[in-house]
Amino acid sequence: MRMVIYSAIITLVAVLLSCSVQTPVAHPARFEFAFCSDIHFACNHGDEQLKRNIDTWRRQLASVDFLVVAGDLTCDGAEDEFIQLQVLFKSLKKPVYTLPGNHDLLLENVEDDHLYRKCFPKGFGCSYFEHHGIGFLFLDISDGGKASVTIKEDVGQWLARKMSRVSIATPIIVISHFPLHPSTPEYATRKSDRIFSALDQKNVIGYLSGHYHAWWSMERGGVPFYTVGSLLPATNNHDTSDKHGYYKVAVLGNEIKVEFVELVDAKQLIEQEKSEETMDGEDFFKE
Ligand SMILES: [Zn+2]
Repeated sequence: MRMVIYSAIITLVAVLLSCSVQTPVAHPARFEFAFCSDIHFACNHGDEQLKRNIDTWRRQLASVDFLVVAGDLTCDGAEDEFIQLQVLFKSLKKPVYTLPGNHDLLLENVEDDHLYRKCFPKGFGCSYFEHHGIGFLFLDISDGGKASVTIKEDVGQWLARKMSRVSIATPIIVISHFPLHPSTPEYATRKSDRIFSALDQKNVIGYLSGHYHAWWSMERGGVPFYTVGSLLPATNNHDTSDKHGYYKVAVLGNEIKVEFVELVDAKQLIEQEKSEETMDGEDFFKE
């Protein structure tokens, strides 16, 4: 009889233990957010393209909970660009979370330094928050105006500390300006193992980045990595694709689904520019 009780206790303990270290269970969260990068606001009339389409963007974003802009908001980090973007973001009537990109920090060392930080103080440095039970990890791994970066030791240490307080079951989405997958064809972040050593044991459900200006994706250990192209046709993509826009990201518990959305109708824009050029030409010949 005693043996039967002992074996029942052992079985019960085994079941409880297996529950406490279980693989993450399906999560009920269901919401959408928008993810874009590399606005490069004042490059090649990008400011005009964004201003002209800001009402369209507001309508497109009606179903999302918030917008993420993963860096390179500006062309060259001028204060005027940040101020204009602040006004435009406000008019979207959604929370906007940002990270700095290398272009945003180009003027960091001039007299009026930290312009990005002054205008977007909450989007500076690494941060973590949860939204409907989903963790959002913003990794600021920028290094001034450098286009290629290395994960510094202090970022890895911050991450290890932060993640030690996050449950293994919490689905996490990682956001960075610089692409973290080691096989990214260009601009892959160096020493990304400093990030993965803290995250591989966690329930990361996706990595989203900009900077590479390409619609690229690849998996690592079953987790998808996505990079987005530039938001506006004014700035070229490095993969030479003429697809410009952003991702609407649906968070479905333990997975994400991305859907491309074009903000500025690029074909219409080209037609418009062609007809403007023709008109300029006609004026020239009349003179
Ligand atoms: Zn960049």
